[in-house]
Amino acid sequence: MIGKEEACGSSGDEPHAWLAKRVSEIRAKRPIFIADFWNDGHLVRGCIAGGRSYLHINASGQVEPCAFVHFAVDNIHDRSLKDVLASPFFRLCQERQPFHSSHYAPCPIVDVPKDLREIVSLSSAEPMHPGADSVLTDEVATVIDGRSKAWRPSANCLETTGSEQ
Ligand code: SF4
Repeated sequence: MIGKEEACGSSGDEPHAWLAKRVSEIRAKRPIFIADFWNDGHLVRGCIAGGRSYLHINASGQVEPCAFVHFAVDNIHDRSLKDVLASPFFRLCQERQPFHSSHYAPCPIVDVPKDLREIVSLSSAEPMHPGADSVLTDEVATVIDGRSKAWRPSANCLETTGSEQ
C-alpha cells in the first residue's frame, strides 16, 4: 500500500508530508500528547491568529496577530484589547480566514504569503524589529513564495485524503 507521504508528498516538501503521517501513527499507538505545528490545522480549522482564537502581546505591549507575525499597529497600553480586535489590522486577519481551503496550508506567513503582505500593507502595520519585514520583500520572501507554491499540491492532497493511514 502506498503511504500517504508518498501519495501526497511527491512534490514540494516531503519531510512535511512524512511528518503528517508519522504523527498520526504515533498518536494511534502511544498514550502521549503530540502537537504537530505544521499539520494540525485541520484540528483547529486553520489559522487561529488575529484574535480568531488567540493573539500575541510582545514585551513592549505591541499587539501582534501571532507570536510569529512580527507586525503591529496598536499597543495594549494605549488601546483596549476590544478595540484592538476591532481594528482594521485584526479585522483583516479575521476576515481572510481561512487563508487556504486546505488546513494543511493554513498559515499567512509560509503558506499564503500574499495575504500577510496585503494585510500589512492595507493596515499600515509596522515591523516589530529590524528584519521582521524580510518575510514581505526580501530574499526570505522569495524562498517563502517558492516553498508555499511547491507545498500546495501536497496540502491539497492531504486535505482530501487525511494524514491517517
Ligand atoms: S499565523 Fe501561522 S503560525 Fe500563526 S497561528 Fe496562524 S497558522 Fe499558526
